Amino acid sequence: MSATYERYRNVPLTPPNQAPPALRYPWPEGNRAAMFLSFDIDAESAWTGKDPSHADRLVTMSFGGFEARVGTPVILRLLREMELKATFFITGWAVEAHPAMAEAVLADGHEIGHHGYHHLIPEPGADHMQEELDYGLEVLKRRLGVVPVGYRAPIGEASAELCQSLKEHNFLYTSSWFDDVRPYRQLMKDGSPGLIELPQTTSYDDWMHGLANRFSPRSIFPKEHVLSMWRDDLDETRAWGDLVTTVFHPQVSGRPMRFRLLREFLQYTVSCNDVWITTGEEIARYYEQQEKALAVS
Ligand SMILES: [Zn+2]
Repeated sequence: MSATYERYRNVPLTPPNQAPPALRYPWPEGNRAAMFLSFDIDAESAWTGKDPSHADRLVTMSFGGFEARVGTPVILRLLREMELKATFFITGWAVEAHPAMAEAVLADGHEIGHHGYHHLIPEPGADHMQEELDYGLEVLKRRLGVVPVGYRAPIGEASAELCQSLKEHNFLYTSSWFDDVRPYRQLMKDGSPGLIELPQTTSYDDWMHGLANRFSPRSIFPKEHVLSMWRDDLDETRAWGDLVTTVFHPQVSGRPMRFRLLREFLQYTVSCNDVWITTGEEIARYYEQQEKALAVS
């Protein structure tokens, strides 16, 4: 056997996600589709999470600093004006370093979700996985009095070990995976029910189109390009009757040109008059109700 095939010997023939197909049910109040409106507040931990020595790189850190100084306040103001409620996944570090910003999110009635402490990727076997979960939970409770029900993995990775730990910590839902266009319930390795998954799609991650620096070099795309993509994804999802999940970051979408894009996209979504725009917790609680009703019928 080649050395390459030797390395592949342990790749199982069973796909890791064995959950049954997503349940089909109508959305509330006659809406055709749902939007999980969510933001990730990483602040400077977006950068120190990649490398703690970034703490001394003042320009690199300033990208994250934009979030508390400008990005989050302008987005909170927009959501107030539009009377929209969202979920903000916040790292524990960001809550401790910017308590006034975190308190402002909470005071506006938005949902606070767990997003790690130092924004470290929960890679399989990572020795920091439990600390990231525990410290994140501890800070949200101590600083904000919040026990989160939603979790989004920093830089979007997960493992069976993480799923088990989230279940043991009584989380209701996660929003990290990419394999569906509707909410579904994860299946644990032992066959027991897992958390509800509110899947994402990369097109709604503003980081992909709107931020570039030396440690995250990308092209920045103009509003017309991104708005067209977001509208097409939304319109086709409305036709399918499914769910879109946004992964916006105030250090990206709180910048003037991107903010204009965000505002126009949200205005367009509201103008459709058939999209349920809400938090992850609302969508997950509704899923639970539907799951129960479908199990009885
Ligand atoms: Zn993040």
